[in-house]
Amino acid sequence: MTIRTFKTGESRDQASLLPSRIEDYVEPDNPVRAIESFVCALDLAELGFRHAERGAEAMGQPPYDPADLSKLYLYGYINQIRSSRRLEREASRNLELIWLLKNLKPGYRTIANFRKENWKALKAVNRNFVLLARQLGLVGGSVVAIDGSFFRGDASKASIFTRKRLAEQIARLDKEIEAYGKSLEANDAAEAKEPRTDRTDGGGDGSDIGARVSALMAQRSRAAADLDRLEASGETQLSKTDPDARLLVKSGQGIAGYNVQTAVDDKHKLIVASEVVNDSSDVGQLHAMAKAAKDVLEAEVLQALADEGYYSSLELKACEDDGIKAYVPVPEGNGQLEKKGRFSLKDFSYDVAADAYRCPAGKLLHPMKGRFQNTSGRTESRYASSTTICRRCRLRARCLSPKASRRTIGRWEHEDVLERHRVRMQGADELMRRRSAIVEHPFGTLKCRAGYRHFLVRGFNKVRGEWSLMALCYNFTRVLNILGLERFVARIAKAFRSLLSALIAAINSIQQTFWANITLSLSIRRLGHSPLG
Ligand code: SF4
Repeated sequence: MTIRTFKTGESRDQASLLPSRIEDYVEPDNPVRAIESFVCALDLAELGFRHAERGAEAMGQPPYDPADLSKLYLYGYINQIRSSRRLEREASRNLELIWLLKNLKPGYRTIANFRKENWKALKAVNRNFVLLARQLGLVGGSVVAIDGSFFRGDASKASIFTRKRLAEQIARLDKEIEAYGKSLEANDAAEAKEPRTDRTDGGGDGSDIGARVSALMAQRSRAAADLDRLEASGETQLSKTDPDARLLVKSGQGIAGYNVQTAVDDKHKLIVASEVVNDSSDVGQLHAMAKAAKDVLEAEVLQALADEGYYSSLELKACEDDGIKAYVPVPEGNGQLEKKGRFSLKDFSYDVAADAYRCPAGKLLHPMKGRFQNTSGRTESRYASSTTICRRCRLRARCLSPKASRRTIGRWEHEDVLERHRVRMQGADELMRRRSAIVEHPFGTLKCRAGYRHFLVRGFNKVRGEWSLMALCYNFTRVLNILGLERFVARIAKAFRSLLSALIAAINSIQQTFWANITLSLSIRRLGHSPLG
């Protein structure tokens, strides 16, 4: 037996027999086969992929099949390879990719352009996968949790300007220009006092200061033009690198990027709906996300769970109108009145029969005449207590401010929506505990496991395309883990067969109706020519 210090590889000069078929490069249970079967089952033309409908008779150099580039991206995002240059490299050396692409080696520009040009189609694939998961019974379809998370954009914080920042920049530049102007004047005055001699050193004429002042003036006019652009756009921020990225701030932490909103189904924590926005606040996103989830799940009634950052009376009303039961904790507010030991709205109860509020002293606050618009634009009725009663009330100090003579309360015209929501929330502790476990799973997996904390592309369309790939790769991996490769491939084939048979049945029924109509119209025509007609 030969004694070796270390394991040694084969000599590079030794002739060897590599598998002669590309098929032998990957094992039968390799997950890359799941990507192949999924993408092959997609109707890429219907999903809107560019070149998907190109006929064989088309002239010129044929493009890459969108199916091959979709497989490349899906493989890449599942394996944390996102940049087009890295994908190009891997396509040449990675045996799984050589198998998947049948040894095609697209260049990085082709790869990058595919992601750029097909952002809508990639979104549609994502939706298609959710429909497939629903068909496979992997989606509960009755409870979703909604949440948002910040992702860094391809822009720095320094490249994004607010009005305040631009105004400060202009003020600073003005000061600098003024200081340089003064020093130029001082220079001139000093020169005027000096006896006139021929200077040979070339200095002291202020030319370097003049150049600096010109540079500052140019900077100032750029900043002023940016401020004009920002004001004309009606936006609050101007981003110079990525036009759609914004400075987003939450809990004192700021980033330059996007806010990704997701609705996650509670059964297997699959992302069923998502959107990329560029607003720090989640207020205003509840209804849009819950409605998108309800549509894709085709649910009659949907329970939507969200944290208190989503609380908005208008959003709760919109949800209720669309058959969505929203569960959002009511924000405590800053509790200023409670802190001062005074009664807050919670201490007043509404009496439906009397259409009046009852105060802690048991007295009624009656409706005032007319309707009012509050600061957030809601129309409300106001209820006021009696000045005479309040004057004699022993609780007056805890109820009224020192200058007030009576208490008034505003009631939104759809306050009943909020009352039903408050009642719903009283028994929702268990649901709210589940909320964070459901919705934080996808973000945790994508950000911590895959390391996807930022976007590589710029602008809403491309960013939304990239997010679709991230969400698809999360859902795809999750479904593959739940089913296993064999069941995944078999069930995908079955699901698409049933979609196909539904399609064929629809076509047959259209054909039957068509022929029935033709026969009917011929019979009518024949009747028209008969002697009885
Ligand atoms: S001050 Fe007026 S509104 Fe307040 S508790 Fe007394 S009676 Fe009621």
